[in-house]
This record gives sequence, structure tokens and C-alpha cells, in this order.
Amino acid sequence: MRYISTRGQSAPVTAAEALLTGLAPDGGLYLPERFPEEMAIAPLAEPNLTYQQLAQQILSLFLSDYTQTELKECIHQAYGDNFATPAVTPVTMVSEKLGFLELWHGPTCAFKDLALQLLPHLLTVAAGKTRFDREIVLLVATSGDTGKAALEGFKDVPGTKVIVFYPEDGVSAVQKRQMITQEGSNTYVVGVTGNFDQAQAGVKALFTNAEFQREMAAAGKTFSSANSINWGRLVPQLVYYFKAWSELCQNHGLAPGETFNVVVPTGNFGNILAAYYGKKLGLPLHKLICASNRNNVLTEFIQTGAYNRNRQFYQTLSPSMDILVSSNLERLLYDLVGADPALVRSYMEQLQQKGSYRLTAAERERLQKEFWAGFADEAETTATIRAVYDRYHYLLDPHTAVGYKVYADYLKATGDDRPTIIASTASPFKFNQGVAQAVLGPQAAAVTDEFALMEKLSTATGVALPPVLAGLRDKPVRHQQVIAPAAMAETVRKILGL
Ligand SMILES: *Cc1c(COP(=O)(O)O)cnc(C)c1O
Repeated sequence: MRYISTRGQSAPVTAAEALLTGLAPDGGLYLPERFPEEMAIAPLAEPNLTYQQLAQQILSLFLSDYTQTELKECIHQAYGDNFATPAVTPVTMVSEKLGFLELWHGPTCAFKDLALQLLPHLLTVAAGKTRFDREIVLLVATSGDTGKAALEGFKDVPGTKVIVFYPEDGVSAVQKRQMITQEGSNTYVVGVTGNFDQAQAGVKALFTNAEFQREMAAAGKTFSSANSINWGRLVPQLVYYFKAWSELCQNHGLAPGETFNVVVPTGNFGNILAAYYGKKLGLPLHKLICASNRNNVLTEFIQTGAYNRNRQFYQTLSPSMDILVSSNLERLLYDLVGADPALVRSYMEQLQQKGSYRLTAAERERLQKEFWAGFADEAETTATIRAVYDRYHYLLDPHTAVGYKVYADYLKATGDDRPTIIASTASPFKFNQGVAQAVLGPQAAAVTDEFALMEKLSTATGVALPPVLAGLRDKPVRHQQVIAPAAMAETVRKILGL
């Protein structure tokens, strides 16, 4: 299977090349040239199919230039003891028809592990296939979750180095501790005395600095990106929607032909796009419900067909969804405009130039046939964490709470009460402040030591701490460097010995 660019002005490439380059040279995103025929999905619902077996079947559809043995080896390394449960992504039903798909049992306690535990292995195999003999240097600017997930995924993977820049005062205490205690001989974590945008701008400047690229090439190295537009991050995310379906069929009375809904707390549109591709492969999904926080640019888009990034940016309790330009949306757009790259280019130019574009009525109808959208503001998010805890004794993180609130709105608006799965994207203990305020009240949550608060929350609710978070406080700090934004290039030079 070959991959083409959504913008149609780059040559088709193999899967291995698409993974290694990330973004197509014309600025577009890679997509399969032809989507695999609807797969015979019945066998996937067979009892006892493991996560790893499902992953093998789905990955082999898309990564056709990888051998079965290569895929098996990658999958074996990605999904093992590093996940707290053999199910990898268990479903917890809170009522007969509503379940949470828990995507946070990996090493960093957020859903990005499902892709980033696998991607490094896929990349090193890809490098071998393309006779690509340079060291891959992953350069990441993070607002919290992606950086840690990339560090854990790439640590000690031969032929790679990973360098993460985080805003010194812009990540939660848990997220910071997770990063500065990072192990691995090829991991580098550097605080920046600036905000996320400055760290991001510094990384982008390095990616586009031709002189720096030449120095890198001369030293046998190349930069790569692990951000969510890489096709190699999307495919692994299809797997857990099939896993959820197989679990609904086996244990919760879903008939094989019966449809279900999914609700996905959304930022860059990667996770929900994976569900959409699952549906294209034949997964019996009814509606894809897109949940946003106060940065509700996607809610407006799905409800009206108008995308408009010219709006106030809010920092919320669900920071991983604080996004105004959802980069993966471009892949959906390609389908909405009838696979015409010229139309995609036109919309993307409008977005670039005036910050907005509007779908035609026919395109909007296509969009609304598959998707439904809503959002939750800050007060609603807090109230939802509390209400769900009171009703089900189930603890939600703020991102997942946004999903639940939007599901409640959907149910009210449509009366569609078929079985529904909400993607639960992070452990509540990664976001103790917001969760403790909701469940224990502001007074009890006024504890300045984040680790004391984490334990207090666990004790008060009787919900166990994930071991990787519980042990965090006592782990030795391995990365103490903090620099000014202007020193990022020099720091990378030093790390790489250029
Ligand atoms: C990244 C992230 C999201 C958003 O996922 P997208 O694929 O960007 O839509 C939601 N919740 C958490 C906890 C995340 O880390």
C-alpha cells in the first residue's frame, strides 16, 4: 500500500517512508492511496483475541511493507509488562449500556502511550527498510503529556535520541516530575524559561534551519518528529476501538451486527479520527461524538461547517485539549471534499491566510452524518467529575469528564440510548488539582504539595494510585538543566556533540 499527501503535490511513498518523514513535503498529511477494503471483521470478535493479536491484524492492513514477523516483534516490545493490565485497554461499564475505555494503563498514564510505545519500534524497522543509516533525533516541545510519552517510548531504543523541551512553569507538578526523573541513556529533558509557544517555536526553528540540517547530516544524524500527524501514531489507535467492540460483544451483550457510539475528548483530532477510520474498515459504529472543552472550535465546526481559529484561547482544566488548530482534521477534510487535493489546499490556504473557512452544504451534511459535537466549560467539567463520582463511585480525569458531559447532552438531544463507549484518556491522578477540587472541595484540595494531594485523593476515594505515579516522588532527578528560549539551538548542539 502506498501513501499520498492530502495536498496532492508530493510523490506517493511507502508506509516506511511516510512514518520516517511524518509530514509530506508539500505540507500535507499522508493517507493510504486506497483504503483497505472493509475487512472481514467477524473474526476479530472471536473470544480470546488478545490486544496484540488485534494489533497485528490491523497494522498489517496498513503497513503492508512490513513483514508479519517485523510487526509481531514491534507489537511484542510495545505492549507488555509496561501496561498495568494484560487487557492493555480495559473497558469499565458503569451501567448496562455505558462504558469507559481506559486508555491510561501505560507507563505515563495517558492515552498517548498506545501509539508512542509502538512508534519507536516501527521507526527503527522503517529506517532499516529504507537503508536509512542516520541516527534519528526526536525533537519534542511539550505541554505535558506528549513529551513524557515520547521519552518512555524512545528510551534506550537503538539508533535514536530523544530531546524534550518543556516550559519550566507551564506543566503540572506530576508531569514535570515524570520528565525530570526520566531514565534511559538516550533521553534529554530540558526546561525552558518561557511558555509552551516559545518552546514550540524553538523546535520549529531547528526543524527548518537548513544550516543546522547540513551539520546534522554531516554528523550522520537527522531530526524526526513524533507528533500526532505522523501516520504511525494514528494506526495504533484504531486497535483499541476494535478491542472495545470485541469486549462489548463478548461480555456485554452486543449482538454482532448491532451498532454502538463512541465519545472522544478531542484536541488535535487524532484519537477520534482513528475511530472514524475504524468505521471505514467496518467497525459497527453509529455516531462519533466529538467532545471539546471551552476551546470549542471543533464543536462549532461540526455544528455549522465553519472553522474559525480567530477566537480567544483559554487555559483549562483539560490542557491537552487546549488547541485552536486541530491538525489531523485535514485528513477528514480530504474525505469530506470527495478526495480532491485541490479543495483541501484551498481550505488550508484560507485557514493560513484568514484563519477560517466554511464547508459547502453537501460537505457539512457528510460531516454531520458521522459526527455529533458538544463541549463542556470549566464549571461543567468540575460538576461532572463530582456527579459521576457520586453516582458511580468512578473517578474521571478532567478530559474524560468533558467527554461524559457531552455524552449527557447527546443523550438529551437525540434520545439515542444505544450502547456507548467513552474514551477515557488520562488517569485522574495526573490532574490531581482539578479532580480533588471537584471531589473533596476547594478547601480540602488546598494542599500545595502535589504528591501529598495525590495520596489524599486516593485515600479519600479508595481509588488506587497507578504504581508508576505512586513511586514518582522517590525517583532520583536525572535532568536539571533549565535554559532561556534563545539557548535551545546551542543546547541541542551540545547534546549532539556538533
Ligand atoms: C492528547 C490528549 C487528548 C486529545 O487527543 P487528540 O488525539 O489530540 O484529539 C485528550 N486527552 C488527553 C489526556 C490527552 O493527552
